[in-house]
Amino acid sequence: MKIAGQISIDDIPQNYPLVSRVVNSQYGEKGTRVVEVAGVRFGGERPVVIGGPCAVESHEQTVGLAHAVKRAGADMLRGGAYKPRTSPHDFQGSGLEGLCILKIAREQTGLPIVTEVMDPRLVGEVAQVADMLQVGSRNMHNYTLLAEVGRARKPVLLKRGMSASLCEWLGAAEYIAKQGNLDIVLCERGIRGFPSGEYSRYVLDLNVIPAAKMLTFLPIIVDPSHATGVSAMVEPASRAALEMGSHGLLIEVADFSMGVPKCDGLQAIDATTLARIVEFAHRSEARSQKSGVRRQEPGVRSQESDDGSPKEERPTSGISKVVVGASSNQNP
Ligand code: PEP
Ligand code: MN
Repeated sequence: MKIAGQISIDDIPQNYPLVSRVVNSQYGEKGTRVVEVAGVRFGGERPVVIGGPCAVESHEQTVGLAHAVKRAGADMLRGGAYKPRTSPHDFQGSGLEGLCILKIAREQTGLPIVTEVMDPRLVGEVAQVADMLQVGSRNMHNYTLLAEVGRARKPVLLKRGMSASLCEWLGAAEYIAKQGNLDIVLCERGIRGFPSGEYSRYVLDLNVIPAAKMLTFLPIIVDPSHATGVSAMVEPASRAALEMGSHGLLIEVADFSMGVPKCDGLQAIDATTLARIVEFAHRSEARSQKSGVRRQEPGVRSQESDDGSPKEERPTSGISKVVVGASSNQNP
């Protein structure tokens, strides 16, 4: 029986066949496509931690932070050269100069770079520097950009639109996949809800992690910085995301000795906090290696087999059906 508003793993998705688990049966019911970015593996055993400033403001700020992020043990550097700001009067990023600074930061630290591209005409320019192209929340529905990014032959970090359903998000991934690029990592960054700035910026939708894993083989990470908007919430939200099965984290970091960042200063954490988060993330890999089991998915019980080796069970409840909204499997 199928209850209205629910989908099951057996549904053939109309909007996103290329990224769907059920159509691409080589990934099975639980396998993840490993997306490799200059040696960093999203969807492998070890959660990936990306840290860095919201915006590239100056050489000193970004290169200094890149070294701090590296010392904290993170795997990649983030930083926006082109910034999607709510007000056109706010700092819009440092553009081409920012890309040059990111290039220097990578040369000095060896950290691969993820940076946002907003304009389809600039995809080539940004792809020359970026190891991974970020499509931001506001552009998740920009289908011209998605197709252009898909043609760039670079791994893509696809953020969830702040009001997008899971089906719409996977539809956006499909636009990239249709160009022959399946190296896509999903990023949950908080959705619109009641808080609206009262106590947090957005609602961090951790439930979408197991739901997305049921429908697609693409790795999924979480951005606790934009999701909460509050620096004190970033560390606990990171831990919760990892416990919920996130393949990694995208975190904004600042060096407060250089003053308040030009954008998103309230949600930035310092490098010491980042180091604690990295330690927690990497410990979860160690735990999974010790037990011989893949990091445990919510709803999946693991126990010893008769011969003493660990075995995994199918979900006992909860994610065999996932509520995604009554009309979300329709074409928009
Ligand atoms: C960002 O990561 O810098 C950003 C602008 O995030 P979002 O698109 O999720 O708002
Ligand atoms: Mn930001």
